[in-house]
Amino acid sequence: MTLAPPDIPLRILFDAQFQASRAQIEVPIALRRDRLRRMRALIDEHGPALAEAVQADFGVRSPRLTEVADFFVLRALLGDLEKHLAAWMKPRRVRTPLYLQPASAHIQRQPLGVVGVIGPWNYPLQLTLGPAATALAAGNHVMIKPSELTPHTSALLATVLHQAYAADELCVVQGGADVAHEFASLPFDHLFFTGSTAVGRKVAAAAAANLTPTTLELGGKSPCIIDASCDITSAALKIAHGKLLNAGQTCIAPDYVLLPRGREAEFEQAFATAVARLFPTLAGNPDYASIVSDRHHARLQALLSEAQAQGARVVDIQTGASQSVASGRQMNPALVFNAQPGQRLMTEEIFGPILPVLPYDRLDDAIASINAGPRPLALYWFGSDTAARDHVLQHTVSGGVTVNDTLLHIAHENLPFGGVGESGWGAYHGETGFLRFTQQKPVLVQSRFAMGSLFYPPYGQRFDQVMGLLKRWL
Ligand code: NAD
Repeated sequence: MTLAPPDIPLRILFDAQFQASRAQIEVPIALRRDRLRRMRALIDEHGPALAEAVQADFGVRSPRLTEVADFFVLRALLGDLEKHLAAWMKPRRVRTPLYLQPASAHIQRQPLGVVGVIGPWNYPLQLTLGPAATALAAGNHVMIKPSELTPHTSALLATVLHQAYAADELCVVQGGADVAHEFASLPFDHLFFTGSTAVGRKVAAAAAANLTPTTLELGGKSPCIIDASCDITSAALKIAHGKLLNAGQTCIAPDYVLLPRGREAEFEQAFATAVARLFPTLAGNPDYASIVSDRHHARLQALLSEAQAQGARVVDIQTGASQSVASGRQMNPALVFNAQPGQRLMTEEIFGPILPVLPYDRLDDAIASINAGPRPLALYWFGSDTAARDHVLQHTVSGGVTVNDTLLHIAHENLPFGGVGESGWGAYHGETGFLRFTQQKPVLVQSRFAMGSLFYPPYGQRFDQVMGLLKRWL
């Protein structure tokens, strides 16, 4: 089919995908592999131009950052999907209980049909193409709605994807909140959303009208606990890296730090040293991304000044010979001490290079403060006391955890990635992702030697004997 997506109404695109998905229920492995290879070829061929587009959208964002945070992750994902595809597509035989024997049973793995993917702006390639590739591997047709906040990237993504795929295989729909709402209201077989918790609620409501199942990959405040047993110098470097990658505009960035009271000065010094090591200069340094828009930049500045006005101590971290503050939408990292619980800084996801540092007296106080809020997307723990580590792991619930580092659990293909509660529902990556977009259809195959009629009416003595026998077995 040769539809040109930009000119085609959303509903017509959806209908074309729907028809195609129903016309070919069984999608052969060769076709799935071909679709994945086209994605890999597209990244190889258009990667540099796409990274330039991301740079243009952010103002400052090194193509190398896009290489590691978007393309590296995508290549790893595509490799993993291709490697396991044959095994993951196979039906699973399951054991049949005695009372149903000699029937046999298996689980058939089938594509769901049409999958919608709504993406955010912060990693605009990884978080659109990643779910899309996984859904294609599972044999689905895919419609992507990328973010309107990265217009250069979204436009180029649409162009290159439409060159590589027929519109009824994979297509891109561009637009703002209105289009996004219309998109979320389509009767997809599955809707995969990555974005804020506030918009996630709207997506869930729109999808519910069609009983469309959703995966919601949302945000929240991910805590970072420094244990009394921790080497703060090493932890501060890892926390600075996790926090300042993409200038804090990462869903699983550490949002705030909890540390033993009395070690604040040590952490402040170690964090400043770590920032200087990672970013010898800030202003104009392409490795240090700018904040995506003036609106987002103003919001972050407001969070800081509100906290400051209410008594918080803000440490503006500067690096570089001239000690000049970052310019344009680049924003200096800031530590905030003495932030108060009700402040926006402590109630909203920060999503920028601001790191509140909260002292705790007892580990259980830190745990209680985490459990008093919505369940976080990620939790980080630093230290060497394994009993304390296990205590934290056993007494907190979060979407995922990295111990003695930040971010890395997202890069492990065999770990399901997702949120819990307000940080989202449903997970993907690896086989978990493949199954997210797969109907696991249970099939029972009756044997011609079946004894099922023993359970049929009229219920009499023979029925009572059979049930009596079964009661002893079960
Ligand atoms: P956002 O929620 O503002 O927007 C995400 C997408 O939703 C955009 O494509 C937007 O057009 C669309 N949208 C807007 N209104 C809509 C509506 N009514 N119905 C349907 N879709 C609508 O999020 P953002 O600002 O792009 O991204 C930042 C947020 O995403 C942060 O909260 C961050 O934590 C979260 N995030 C989560 C993950 C994860 O994997 N859990 C990854 C990246 C970002």
